[in-house]
Amino acid sequence: MAGPERLRVVIVGGGTSGWMTAAALVRLLPRRVSLHLIESEAIGVIGVGEATLPHIRGFVEKLGIREADFMAWTRGTFKLGIEFRDWGKLGDSYIHPFGTFGRGKGEVDFHHYWTRLRAEGADVPPLEHFSYACMLARANRFDLPDADPDKLASTFGYAYQFDALLFAPYLRAIAEDLGARRTEGRVVEVLRDGRSGDIAAIRLEDGQVIEGDLFIDCSGFRSLLLGEALEEPFEDWNHWLPADRAVAMPCRTQTAVTPYTSAIAMPAGWRWRIPLQHRTGNGYVYASAFTSDEEAARALTHAVEGAPLADPRPLRFRAGRRRRSWSHNCIAIGLASGFLEPLESTSIYLVQQAITALIELFPEKQVSPVDRDEFNRLIDLEYDRIRDFLILHYHATTRDDTAFWNYVRTMTVPDSLSEKIELFRRAGRVVKYREGVFLDASWIAVYVGQGILPQGYDPRADQADGAVLMRGMQALQAEITSTVARVPEHLRYIDRYCAMAAAA
Ligand SMILES: Cc1cc2nc3c(=O)[nH]c(=O)nc-3n(C[C@H](O)[C@H](O)[C@H](O)COP(=O)(O)OP(=O)(O)OC[C@H]3O[C@@H](n4cnc5c(N)ncnc54)[C@H](O)[C@@H]3O)c2cc1C
Repeated sequence: MAGPERLRVVIVGGGTSGWMTAAALVRLLPRRVSLHLIESEAIGVIGVGEATLPHIRGFVEKLGIREADFMAWTRGTFKLGIEFRDWGKLGDSYIHPFGTFGRGKGEVDFHHYWTRLRAEGADVPPLEHFSYACMLARANRFDLPDADPDKLASTFGYAYQFDALLFAPYLRAIAEDLGARRTEGRVVEVLRDGRSGDIAAIRLEDGQVIEGDLFIDCSGFRSLLLGEALEEPFEDWNHWLPADRAVAMPCRTQTAVTPYTSAIAMPAGWRWRIPLQHRTGNGYVYASAFTSDEEAARALTHAVEGAPLADPRPLRFRAGRRRRSWSHNCIAIGLASGFLEPLESTSIYLVQQAITALIELFPEKQVSPVDRDEFNRLIDLEYDRIRDFLILHYHATTRDDTAFWNYVRTMTVPDSLSEKIELFRRAGRVVKYREGVFLDASWIAVYVGQGILPQGYDPRADQADGAVLMRGMQALQAEITSTVARVPEHLRYIDRYCAMAAAA
């Protein structure tokens, strides 16, 4: 019996999202797609996007990629979380770890016991001291998690920091090997079916017409197919996330190659620091309503720790998303579908989620509206939850030293976020979701890290004897310290595991 017809899938764009999508489709649905990717080297890619979330490991694994090989080629480093400096107030520093607080196994989350002891006046160290991932990161050490769930060293995950300009070419080689076709050229026209309004073909500058059944818009901020041709409206979230520009500038690595990304608050936004094997990525994400491009470039140049490797490069963006990511027979993935600023490294994650949802809901030649609606529902949820999480970082501050921080501190936030904050403030409760990226420990890290401390705690935390609890905490802290001390230094581990390929 003949299987279902192969869909002619046309991807416009060869950045991170275009090649991630291409590689995943040809690898995971080889009998269902014939894939053609169009990209324009003259237009180029955005060239940022170097910090990821742990989910990326699932992507790498599904594609059958050997982690060490991938990291060597992309000159990658490990990432245990994100360090936030100067956010809640000047001088603060906390880590949002990809791991639990405590051992993360009990019915009652660890922070409830921590809150209880504090409420009783005990001298308890900061919450971060009870996170293995945080302490590993602070010590600049790294080893893969232990596979034994009973071991302390199993209580964390990790992600990668890699060279954005090397990631897509790495995936391109895989995708082309598996049969993806690539055409170099600039798309100048989108041709639509007169009756259905679906996209029928695209025309390139040289006159070539490329037909397809399903079109994937990975054209970046321009959103050539979904935004421009299909006119899908853009929902603007600038009032909650006022950062709308960035200036990027890589530098030589002068200080430690940390196994974490840093997000350092600045007068009108924040600055990233992403250490790779061969350089450190830096950028200042700022709100143009509160500072000028010149001032931002000056501030970044002044702040970077090593010799600059390029001039400051300006980037512009808008926070928000297209009302629907999938309309007609066109799906936008990546920046073409929307953008939430890179504070929690969520863009590549969103690309991955869109690819996963697309594969799970992969259409027949005739797109079913039900599949399309479900896809859009899933993507909307992801965007909305990430949006709230990002806003929390800005809003939960006592900073009043610049107009920018005053604005975000006092702005009205979405009801969905006010409710979450209130739940945590009252009794340390974290809203639980079935879908969405950030789990309890992430929210707890940011709440506590930015000064939202619970006034109460889970009543079940009262069952334990206070002295026993205190001894348990001291033992855990000692175990964390001694386990961390046995782990290799981050760079030494990289040298052994995935030092950059000589030919790269
Ligand atoms: C300041 C900043 C920092 C970021 N940091 C992070 C981070 O740390 N972590 C993270 O996950 N994400 C980050 N991102 C987001 C990340 O960079 C993107 O999600 C990722 O690179 C995917 O981009 P893309 O492939 O959608 O778009 P692009 O890289 O812009 O690619 C668009 C592609 O479309 C092609 N194209 C466009 N028009 C045409 C045309 N007419 N014809 C043919 N081809 C065309 C281009 O040539 C290119 O190949 C950041 C973004 C910004 C702005």
